[in-house]
Amino acid sequence: MTDASVPVSLARLIGAAHVLTAPDATAPYYTDWVGRTSGAALCVCRPGSVDEVAAIVRYCAGAAIPVFPQGGNTSSTAGGIPLCGGRGVVLCLARLNKIEEVDTVSDAIIVQAGCTLAQVQQAAKDHDRLFPLTLSSEGSCQIGGNVSTNAGGTAVLRYGNTRDLVLGIEAVLADGRIWNGLRTLRKDNAGYDMKSIFVGSEGTLGIVTRVALKLFPRQRQRAMAFVALPAPQAAVDLLLTCRASFGAELDAFELFSASQLRIIAEHIPGVRLPFAALPDWALMIEVKGNAAFCELSGRLVDVLGGAMTSGLITNAVPAATEAQANAFWHIRHSVSEANKQHGLNFTHDTAVPIVRVPDFLAAADAAVTQAYPEATLHSVSHLGDGNVHFTAIFPHGQAGNAGNLGGEVARLVHDIAVSMGGTFAAEHGIGQRYRDSLQRYKSPVELDLFRKLKTALDPQGILNPGKVL
Ligand SMILES: Cc1cc2nc3c(=O)[nH]c(=O)nc-3n(C[C@H](O)[C@H](O)[C@H](O)COP(=O)(O)OP(=O)(O)OC[C@H]3O[C@@H](n4cnc5c(N)ncnc54)[C@H](O)[C@@H]3O)c2cc1C
Repeated sequence: MTDASVPVSLARLIGAAHVLTAPDATAPYYTDWVGRTSGAALCVCRPGSVDEVAAIVRYCAGAAIPVFPQGGNTSSTAGGIPLCGGRGVVLCLARLNKIEEVDTVSDAIIVQAGCTLAQVQQAAKDHDRLFPLTLSSEGSCQIGGNVSTNAGGTAVLRYGNTRDLVLGIEAVLADGRIWNGLRTLRKDNAGYDMKSIFVGSEGTLGIVTRVALKLFPRQRQRAMAFVALPAPQAAVDLLLTCRASFGAELDAFELFSASQLRIIAEHIPGVRLPFAALPDWALMIEVKGNAAFCELSGRLVDVLGGAMTSGLITNAVPAATEAQANAFWHIRHSVSEANKQHGLNFTHDTAVPIVRVPDFLAAADAAVTQAYPEATLHSVSHLGDGNVHFTAIFPHGQAGNAGNLGGEVARLVHDIAVSMGGTFAAEHGIGQRYRDSLQRYKSPVELDLFRKLKTALDPQGILNPGKVL
């Protein structure tokens, strides 16, 4: 078997139209979203059924050819980009894009892995239900990618991360067998919880082909506000007040540094910041419930009025209309695109105990400023989860040195997070970007368990090599 014969053999399995080899056609699959990491492969396969996925993997296992599963290719850690000197196959799930079943009695939905997150959200809405996972990339990322990265986003505060939303999984194993764990049960202690092993495994243990997910009641009303604060500690204090006042109705609690808001306003057309003068820190708060809008927003205004009187916050701008609420979310969803345009940016995905977030922000800022005075520093945090995206942006001209620079900055930031009882990888996964950090911060015992798990499920190491471990 020659490398040139691989696409021909795969075309026999899934049809020539679904095996891409032309450089124009394959290019988008070989470069990550940020445009900084590239790879190569023998071809891109786009199977149209679970059986075709299994046939591809069986063929690749027989020939010891690496397989790189790919969803929407929005990974923040270059997780789906092929590494292997070009001798591998990208397996894109995009054609497995059917919503198979919506069960409004069990509040469960079964979808194929290539459905976009937005498609799943819409299917739930069409049945008067909510699928709560919310990411700025939801129009492009796929549910198989969300499951494989255990994606987080802005609704974790209320609903948990993807792992908490998964009821069952079907996956193709490294030898091409299909494991059907597609159950919609709320209780199932029959043996080890295999589905949890695949959640967050980043395509290194199996290929997710179908998923059963939890649905929730839709909340009829929402109230939102942007709030100005002098310091992150005030945001932590306000979080406690909001939790006490709203309980489970608290839906989003997103903290921005002033520099982050400034960059968004500079690069994203149509964004209007809610403040005439930028405060040092700003919070975007959303509460959702079934009370009338005036009651929900009235309670939010009361809470914020109290916070203003006590000096915790310096300004509050409630959203008076749905259009204004959407405009607030547009600001939040513009973060990644604005940072990308601003310069060579290194965004970190740390989490620390919520109580340590102010200390972490101060320490990371001080350490990176001292080492790299030329960098612009800013942050956006899912504060309710202690998840801080601390970003250092360098002039585009330093792109040639991106690998080393990114590694050095990450080490500074990660050391601080881990020293505070936190993690260097809260929601984006390890991919190829944070493999060094995994080796640095995980104990020998944990790394040994990881390797044993990988060897048990993928003894040839053909599934997404060069990622995670
Ligand atoms: C603008 C923007 C905003 C974002 N915001 C957030 C955020 O708030 N929270 C967050 O957690 N992430 C966020 N992300 C990161 C990204 O969207 C998530 O990691 C998402 O879950 C990746 O899904 P994907 O389909 O694009 O996966 P890909 O990028 O294609 O792949 C990601 C990983 O999953 C594996 N994989 C993909 N599909 C499968 C499958 N079917 N079976 C097995 N393995 C598979 C790949 O091999 C790779 O390792 C953001 C990204 C962007 C660009």
